Amino acid sequence: MLNSIIGHEKVKIQLDTILQRKEYNRTYMFYGPSCSGKRTTAFDYAKTILCDTLTGDDCNCRSCSMFVRDHPDFLCIGRDERIKVADVDRVLDFSEVAPFLSNSKVVVIDNADSITWEASNRLLKILEEPPKMFTYILVTSDPNSILNTVRSRCIRVEFNALSQMDMVNVIMSRMGFEPVKARLLGWIGHGSSVDIFARAGKYLKYRDIAVDFVSGMKNRGLIDSMDFIDKVGKNDMDVFVDMVILVMTDVALLSNKIENIINLDLRDDLKKIGSNLNAKAFVGAVGWFSQVKKDQYLNINLSHAMKTALIKSRPLILVEQPS
Ligand SMILES: [Zn+2]
Repeated sequence: MLNSIIGHEKVKIQLDTILQRKEYNRTYMFYGPSCSGKRTTAFDYAKTILCDTLTGDDCNCRSCSMFVRDHPDFLCIGRDERIKVADVDRVLDFSEVAPFLSNSKVVVIDNADSITWEASNRLLKILEEPPKMFTYILVTSDPNSILNTVRSRCIRVEFNALSQMDMVNVIMSRMGFEPVKARLLGWIGHGSSVDIFARAGKYLKYRDIAVDFVSGMKNRGLIDSMDFIDKVGKNDMDVFVDMVILVMTDVALLSNKIENIINLDLRDDLKKIGSNLNAKAFVGAVGWFSQVKKDQYLNINLSHAMKTALIKSRPLILVEQPS
């Protein structure tokens, strides 16, 4: 059971043990860092509890084939906005009706820390005496923001951050990315606050834009390069900065005869960009752009920081190659 969950061996053992005891009327709190797979695991667990054969993985029973879209015995709240009283009322209504298709019912309360105080107290009414055959799963990356009276009623299931390898595997198996792109996205997402699962498409789009930016660094005039930066939307600037630094780093590595790069699929293109630059001086230029990441944490305007890096690195980019 729960074999589709990648990583999280301790969590799997904990949940499997409860499943084997067939104890369904439980309230859980799945907690741990963002992007560690709490919500996905909550959904997989719900699917398994509702499954006719209690397997869930690769199962085609009536319940599994209806999960998650139209399953009458499954409810998820809290995915988009703060959880308000009206949302908890939906949980109350759902909890008053017996299971329809499966032998039990499951509620996932995502972003449970976003619940208002009034809604928390209403939720407490259900959790104080949960109806038989009902499972409630609160999902949160900030457990301390949940009322102590709610928290104390939950079985605590702790998630640790995914390892880089597990993250790459999740990106491949759940999102369908090929290994080279999954490796790149895993590298960006691991150990950072970036929700790479939600922003994967944006990162790949801006990688192409970053390659365009870096490849023109030497021949494009300073004003044109500044215009290039201005065309990047304010909300996307952090992604653009990340990808420019990543592309520049790989160009610098390749020009210095180091093959251990992240953008393996762009190796030839990046090598070509490097052939136009002075390898030693370009390392210094990468340093100026890497400084922008530090500015980001100081809340300095990123567009402005990028332009500063551009001006400071310009003499290094224009250095001719040794003949
Ligand atoms: Zn099934």
